Amino acid sequence: LSNRKFRPDNSVIKVGNTMIGGKELIIMSGPCAVEDENQVMETALAIKKAGAQILRGGAYKPRTSPYSFQGLEEDGLKLMKAAGDATGLATVCEVTSLSAIENAVKYVDMLQIGARNMQNFYLLKEAGKSGLPILLKRGLSATIDEWLNAAEYIMAEGNPNVVLCERGIRTFETATRNTLDLSAVPVIKEKSHLPIIVDPSHATGVRSYVKPLTKAAIAAGADGLMIETHPNPARALSDGPQSLTFPEFEQLCEEIRPLVQVM
Ligand code: PEP
Ligand code: MN
Repeated sequence: LSNRKFRPDNSVIKVGNTMIGGKELIIMSGPCAVEDENQVMETALAIKKAGAQILRGGAYKPRTSPYSFQGLEEDGLKLMKAAGDATGLATVCEVTSLSAIENAVKYVDMLQIGARNMQNFYLLKEAGKSGLPILLKRGLSATIDEWLNAAEYIMAEGNPNVVLCERGIRTFETATRNTLDLSAVPVIKEKSHLPIIVDPSHATGVRSYVKPLTKAAIAAGADGLMIETHPNPARALSDGPQSLTFPEFEQLCEEIRPLVQVM
């Protein structure tokens, strides 16, 4: 179902009022984790002003340590919905369980399957049955074929609306949190008709590397970007070191505008 052989034209996926995979490069932005009402609302207003189309924010956080902040769960989803309604931005939230899916479908426009759950086949099937478009992140050490098979699990449940997200893979390199595999973009474009976006924030874990890799992702042909932003990254409850401030995000959007027109 995901194979280009059986569908030569590109899939265009509708998320809220935004299309992913069409002519326009789309930008998803927002905090790693939903923390409180002001944080989400301020972020939504700032990214909308800068030109983003989709608000991201985690309400269920799959943290490496069980002692780290785990997310606001349904209260977080409600804050995402309020910010989406107030700004007209579409919304995406990660889901980590069946009960998270059951809650999230009431509040957000797109469900995210995170890297750690890319091969949670039960969760993929449930995401397939949810009726919402799915943002499928590449697993920490997943090959491109394993990743496309994960998409296949979702699509086999009758949900063709899958967007892939390259977010870096595990390598021997330690200077960045992961290694951004930009070759995944042309490889996916050749193998599949599904849209692919790039997440330079989780790929690098370092704020200063986000801008150059955003530009590289556009040059490689990505359909969109996911970029973490926070009103005060130093105080973020998760992923502060890779989150952009609002002025940094605005500057980034400004700089890529001409690139988008050229590509
Ligand atoms: C996230 O998007 O906040 C996240 C946890 O990403 P990943 O699954 O790519 O690590
Ligand atoms: Mn994060």
